[in-house]
Amino acid sequence: MGTTTQRSIHGRASLDASRRRLLGGTAALGALSVAGCATTAGGGGGGLPSRGEWLVRGGHVMTMDRKAGDLPGADVHVRDGAIVAVGNGLQAPGAQVIDARGMIVLPGLVETHWHIWNTILRSMSGAEKKYGYFPTALGIGRVYEASDMYHSARLASAEAVFSGITFVHDWCHNIRTPHHAREALRGLQQSGLRGRFSYGTMQGHPVDRPMDVADLERLRADWSQHSNGGLLSLGVAWRGVSTGGTGLIKAEATREDVAAARRLGLPVSVHLNNSRARAGGIAQLAKDGLLGADLQAIHAVWVTPEEVKALAASGASVSISPFSELRIGFGVPPTSRFLEAGIPMGLSVDTTALSGNADMFGIMKVTQNAENARTENEFQLPARRVLELATIEGARSMGMADRIGSLVPGKRADLIMVDTRAVNLGVFTDPAHMLVEAAQPSNVDTVMVDGRILKRGGRLVAVDAGQVVDEARIALAGLRKRANWW
Ligand SMILES: [Zn+2]
Repeated sequence: MGTTTQRSIHGRASLDASRRRLLGGTAALGALSVAGCATTAGGGGGGLPSRGEWLVRGGHVMTMDRKAGDLPGADVHVRDGAIVAVGNGLQAPGAQVIDARGMIVLPGLVETHWHIWNTILRSMSGAEKKYGYFPTALGIGRVYEASDMYHSARLASAEAVFSGITFVHDWCHNIRTPHHAREALRGLQQSGLRGRFSYGTMQGHPVDRPMDVADLERLRADWSQHSNGGLLSLGVAWRGVSTGGTGLIKAEATREDVAAARRLGLPVSVHLNNSRARAGGIAQLAKDGLLGADLQAIHAVWVTPEEVKALAASGASVSISPFSELRIGFGVPPTSRFLEAGIPMGLSVDTTALSGNADMFGIMKVTQNAENARTENEFQLPARRVLELATIEGARSMGMADRIGSLVPGKRADLIMVDTRAVNLGVFTDPAHMLVEAAQPSNVDTVMVDGRILKRGGRLVAVDAGQVVDEARIALAGLRKRANWW
């Protein structure tokens, strides 16, 4: 028994190490290439607030590090985009003080799978079959111009920051031309968010044709121009073995996609076992030897015990998006089964065309509630465990746990402050329960990414929200007209 435990602990540690190596590679590359000019954002990110030296003073600090725990009335010292110290009564004479009394201070929320390009199709999945999510994404996706990618990324990023999300995984599967990819990236760069951009195909992509590998190679080679000073990394949004909007994807074409990703050392993300009709995808990949620590399985709602074992043994991660999974009728994600198997796991928005918004507090709440309902157990998934999924565990699932996900010295300064004095909070009870059950994006007072303040006093400071919204509306009007959509 003891030896088995020992072995499995070591196994997990080595998987984590390989996950970091595989998933962190491109970000590290980006960071290295801009050493010495950290405030000059590559490829369109100029104009972001500068990184200050801050002393976040007197908050209820939830480090989300199991050893460090919660520190009531504590401080966080930030310099050059990094966390210098966390503790009570810190001294930092050169720092600007941010009063965090009455606030919960915690790591920025980590989002792990979001089709950011269709954020401007918010709530457009209709009530009848021809206007369901997939026909909508395909029907309107086909008429996307590159500028629509940009405006959607701008709206999504603004909402992310407003909601306390500091890391996004942009799963981009409407790259109609290389310019579309670069415009999507430009929107992300301007936001100052940290994230991964996963390069995919386009809506209506021929089922027998691989993705644009030549463009992916170019992007990989020039990544330092796109990484926004190391904030963004590159991955591949793989079609996998499921069916697309245009029918069954041909295995050969998709194999070329995943082979290209691995040749380039890029992490792979793929929708698997979404619905009852698409069960068996993970078993297929296991059989083909395609699982690995560089692979993220999205949804995985319908899984056999053998598939859970295969995921765990390979070191793959899972991303669930309960709002879209419930809304579209995929089913209820079996969250505890992944956690019990030790699979790294994160929470995700998926698409605002189905989920409506990108409220990570709501996503945490539905994750807990759906899992407790599924298992008929009030105590199945504790609030603090859910909060881990939205912070340190989500970071681990993206290969980012050595840089973000908890408030400990040496990590990058991605943190948020939640004001507990709003009427939907008001009393201070258990902070994890308050965040998961009661808090809303409007309670997020301050958002810091890499030492830059992007939201302060409840307002976005690095973006003109009015302009972003106006431009998103104009873009959607054009799309509706061109697609002749309701
Ligand atoms: Zn998705």
